[in-house]
Amino acid sequence: MNVFTRLGIPGFFDVHTHFLPPTVMAKVRAVFDSAGPLIGREWPLTYRDEDDVLVETLRSFGVRRFSALAYAHKPDMAEFLNEWSAGFADRHPEALRCGTFYPEPGAADYVRKRIEAGVELFKVHVQVGAFHVTDPLLDDAWGVLAEAGTPIVLHAGSGPVPTAFTGPGPVEDLLGRHPRLALVMAHMGAPEYAEFLSMAERFVNVRLDTTMAFTEFFEEMGGRYPAELLPRLAALGDKVLLGSDFPNIPYPYEHQIDSIELLAQRHAGLDDAWLRRVLWSNGHELFDARA
Ligand SMILES: [Zn+2]
Repeated sequence: MNVFTRLGIPGFFDVHTHFLPPTVMAKVRAVFDSAGPLIGREWPLTYRDEDDVLVETLRSFGVRRFSALAYAHKPDMAEFLNEWSAGFADRHPEALRCGTFYPEPGAADYVRKRIEAGVELFKVHVQVGAFHVTDPLLDDAWGVLAEAGTPIVLHAGSGPVPTAFTGPGPVEDLLGRHPRLALVMAHMGAPEYAEFLSMAERFVNVRLDTTMAFTEFFEEMGGRYPAELLPRLAALGDKVLLGSDFPNIPYPYEHQIDSIELLAQRHAGLDDAWLRRVLWSNGHELFDARA
């Protein structure tokens, strides 16, 4: 029996996949290929096709809903990405309408405008972007997002390579100021798993995504998920969302799913009800039921 029949779900809901303008995707691939300073190790990408083929590939895995996360690393880039992402969502109805923002004048205005135009999910990457989530130029944008309740996938953990901008401290400060923000902590907050898990426990709209977590590749990099946190992770079953980082992953997509299932087999609290929520229902309720 396949996982969909066993769990009674229509497919996977993956909140953390990347689709980018072709010129930007080419640059991202070059960074992974060169194992650049923010990557830290060999990262042989498994999937390098054009978008239409990648979307078909996701469908072939049983992914029914997915995101198209882009993120800016310099000023005057976010809106170019947002415009492209809007077109992508128009072409692919099962894709979430995604956006991004950067600490720059006008950020709050274009975030508000994009939410009004239907953006359902934002992405912010403090390591690649090289900014603090507490940057004053972001404060109004966070306020708009907190009020709207629009989720934001936030890469703020110190993996794969820490910088002056990564780590849980600034995110705690941000949540102190905007406690209702719907942050989705990418990679389960790796490697600061305990600190980001604690935020998901304390703040009503904070969630975690599984991106790359529990895979052999990630665990070898020193990102092993601490066994003592698993009972708390089991209790947070309604706040954990499937994410994968497809297509920028150095292993087949199935390995992400298998790794989560293997983890669940080993720990009694992570039962089929937990898997059902993580692999489908949580994403479905957050985005489809909300729309
Ligand atoms: Zn990612």
